[in-house]
Amino acid sequence: FLPHLVASLQQVDQTYIMVKPDGVQRGLVGEIISRFEKKGFKLTGLKLFQCSKELAEEHYKDLNQKSFFPKLIDYITSGPVVCMAWEGVGVVASARKLIGATDPLQAEPGTIRGDLAVQTGRNVVHGSDSPENGKREIALWFKEGELCDWTPVQAPWLRE
Ligand code: UDP
Ligand code: MG
Repeated sequence: FLPHLVASLQQVDQTYIMVKPDGVQRGLVGEIISRFEKKGFKLTGLKLFQCSKELAEEHYKDLNQKSFFPKLIDYITSGPVVCMAWEGVGVVASARKLIGATDPLQAEPGTIRGDLAVQTGRNVVHGSDSPENGKREIALWFKEGELCDWTPVQAPWLRE
């Protein structure tokens, strides 16, 4: 029972992180990537990409009944985004903490949104909300062959 529990706590997950068009336009790409890089997660996919309306609608399909949905789709398709796949133990929940609350005015200082944004409709970054959605979103935004499986040299210095 206990070894099984420990093993499940060490579960390696994947999350889809995206610098939204405002983050790209404001020159925040390097700053945002470095938050995840410095934390110690592993980058497995990265590209600058202009997404279609169809892809944006599929990505945000759970929100398609919300009043802000059309504006959200316009925002996400308004310019290039930076698509990233990150891997690590607890990466989904940890990335959400690094990103901060959806409304940047509620996001704690020290978080990406808390430090770099002021409005929900211009909150600079996306992060998956569950390991299942992490997998779903990575499959949606990346084609086969665009992800890299590699071993960072720092791996033994991040985990015992
Ligand atoms: N959003 C918005 N108005 C709202 C709520 C959300 O424009 O009232 C946008 C915002 O860009 C947010 C995205 O829709 O990041 C997705 O909403 P969600 O609730 O999933 O927030 P997130 O997971 O990004 O924190
Ligand atoms: Mg969300």
